[in-house]
Amino acid sequence: MPSSEKTFLLLGTGNRKKLEELKTLLSDIPFRLVSLREFPNIKEVKEDGDTFEENAVKKATGLAKQTGMLTLAEDSGLMVEALEGNPGVYSARFAGPEKDDLKNCLKILKLMEKLPENCRGASFKSVVAITTPQRLIGTAVGEVHGGIAHQMRGSGGFGYDPIFIYGPYGKTFGEVSAEMKHRVSHRAQAVLKAKKILEEYAKIRTPAGG
Ligand code: IMP
Repeated sequence: MPSSEKTFLLLGTGNRKKLEELKTLLSDIPFRLVSLREFPNIKEVKEDGDTFEENAVKKATGLAKQTGMLTLAEDSGLMVEALEGNPGVYSARFAGPEKDDLKNCLKILKLMEKLPENCRGASFKSVVAITTPQRLIGTAVGEVHGGIAHQMRGSGGFGYDPIFIYGPYGKTFGEVSAEMKHRVSHRAQAVLKAKKILEEYAKIRTPAGG
């Protein structure tokens, strides 16, 4: 498809690192990717849902309605077994409203300080939602299981990556390359499924984009 005919797809995230990952993971799709930077006056959509799916759909719908664009939004987080699935949907603000990655990691480490190896299981989950201003096109879920380290390791990635050990690598996501993270991550799995949804959407799309 020549690029002039490409449909625009808004990536609905204000998180710079997440945006970078989404751009990489979506780099081979026949859509022209647009970021929220193009809409400096856009109103932030409140993420007050009880589930990742609710938040992803809410974000995508709110942004699509404001911009009139086909929009992909993602909600994700860390679920720690010993913390009954927390921080979950509160992952970004776990240690306070400033969404500080370092403080969030240190808070988890402190809460898990005395826990032995067999009680340190955790998962990352990602839900991607794709909407037009008129309707929800689809959602896609990805999950990766691992464990919580005893201290922060590595400076790659973002968020909880330096404390999330992916078993088969024997390393945290903070210690591996972006390419290695993308081979197995929750986001990569969700985006892979989202690409199929976008492919189908592109096939049936009407000229009005509804
Ligand atoms: P939100 O989806 O923007 O509400 O925030 C998700 C939060 O979950 C991030 O701020 C991180 O704290 C955490 N998170 C989500 N995905 C990842 C990841 O791939 N690595 C590390 N932390 C993540």
